[in-house]
Amino acid sequence: MTSVPPNLPAKLEHFIGGEHTPSADGATFEVADPVTNQPYASAAAGGPADIDRAVAAAGHAFTGGPWPRLPSRERARILAKIADAIEARAPRIAELETFDTGLPVTQARGQAARAAENFRFFADMAVTQHEDAFTAPGRQFGYVIRRPAGVAGLITPWNTPFMLETWKLAPALAAGCTVVLKPAEWTPLSASLLPEIMTEAGLPDGAFNLVHGIGEVAGAALVAHPGVPRISFTGETATGRAIMAAAAPHLKGLSMELGGKSPCLVFADADLDLATDSALFGVFSLNGERCTAGSRILAERSVYHDLVTRLAARAERIRVGSPSDPATEIGALVHPEHYARVLSYVQAGLDEGARLVAGGSRPQSQPTGNYLAATVFADVQPWMRIFREEIFGPVVCVTPFDAEADAIALANDTAYGLAAYIWTTDLARAHRVAGAVESGMTWINSHNVRDLRTPFGGVKASGLGREGGAHSLDFYTQSRIVHVPLADTRVPRFGA
Ligand code: NAD
Repeated sequence: MTSVPPNLPAKLEHFIGGEHTPSADGATFEVADPVTNQPYASAAAGGPADIDRAVAAAGHAFTGGPWPRLPSRERARILAKIADAIEARAPRIAELETFDTGLPVTQARGQAARAAENFRFFADMAVTQHEDAFTAPGRQFGYVIRRPAGVAGLITPWNTPFMLETWKLAPALAAGCTVVLKPAEWTPLSASLLPEIMTEAGLPDGAFNLVHGIGEVAGAALVAHPGVPRISFTGETATGRAIMAAAAPHLKGLSMELGGKSPCLVFADADLDLATDSALFGVFSLNGERCTAGSRILAERSVYHDLVTRLAARAERIRVGSPSDPATEIGALVHPEHYARVLSYVQAGLDEGARLVAGGSRPQSQPTGNYLAATVFADVQPWMRIFREEIFGPVVCVTPFDAEADAIALANDTAYGLAAYIWTTDLARAHRVAGAVESGMTWINSHNVRDLRTPFGGVKASGLGREGGAHSLDFYTQSRIVHVPLADTRVPRFGA
């Protein structure tokens, strides 16, 4: 069963220069929901001509429009109005997101609230930002001037689409850039609310442009466009590599937020109740379709058996069902293709000899739709594919370790390095391990709660560059230094 939101749009169009528009060649693609897997809308399929139009509109708004030239207080006022407009529509955003992505509605509501917060936060950043000055007393003084980088291309994935779109839009606009957003083709629905939100808030036409389309076509055209000096991308590592190669001839600034296979280390002295809650939430929230999912639980051998038993028992009770039911904890996976991929990893785990202790198949209560019961594999060896590759679904591996050094070695035995979670009551060890684990973000005795000022991003195959707070503004701006002498200028006199 699924509940279809009222007034679902049948057609999703681009939004370019303040106007809704189909693709130049009339091309469309079908969009389905993950419960019935039936198409519910057709979306404009952008191609190079549509990207050209959108970049031209954004370029015009950047070079000739008011947005980059507004005093920061004025920009902040509009960003705050965007936050208000998102809050006013939060139930609608959540209902559309749930319908389109299969995320449980309670979690989609949380993501809608966070989307508003993204704009409120960067509105504050816009007016509190200050620049560095460098003084060499009596000799030289230098000060930084900052300019928006130009047209920013924003390419986003299908997991938490609206939240991630706003996580890029807010800092890009706060910095004074104009933007072209290319949302993920599996989940374009919630982005269709952005034009009215931006217009209602008073954002000038052309500052925000939206082009729907297939990644290899519309996304690739945006990356290859010479009029777009910045690309902020969130998605798979393989796509990130392709984008970096395509952007290289243009020497674009790139922000790459990529995949993960994050470890959750549980030492014997940890608060096991809390560690169990956090480990389960960390991998099964957002349907496990979460870049920072703690998808490898590493447990010290003396508590390993106890932890596996607890995880299995709790996983069996996790409620898998209709995304729109507020009691649901895991909804439907986004797309049949992705669902098949996740199931193939379950099969790989079985074939490679991991011990399935919970889930592993479609729950009996859900005969159709992309549903998978919360799945726990124990005795997972580091050479197994389910330990090494990102599954991006409700599947977790549990592996024992003996000593702290083994725990660190196992945690780092992956191409990825996005997040890590450490559970221990030994303070010194917690900090030691946090320093040794190769991850962009580590949480000690806690789960994934963000402070939007902090650097977000990964090491190794999980990405390049950081987003969040001043890091985002750095990305969407150019810092330039101006030098001023404080004493008589002495210059070597060549040819004198
Ligand atoms: P994806 O790489 O398939 O697609 C992401 C976006 O890129 C989509 O909009 C897609 O249309 C576009 N795209 C695809 N090929 C392209 C190309 N050649 N040129 C330009 N654009 C192209 O990723 P996905 O399957 O949508 O998302 C899941 C992945 O995203 C997972 O690997 C997950 O870990 C990652 N992710 C990372 C973070 C993070 O912050 N590090 C956050 C969320 C998701």
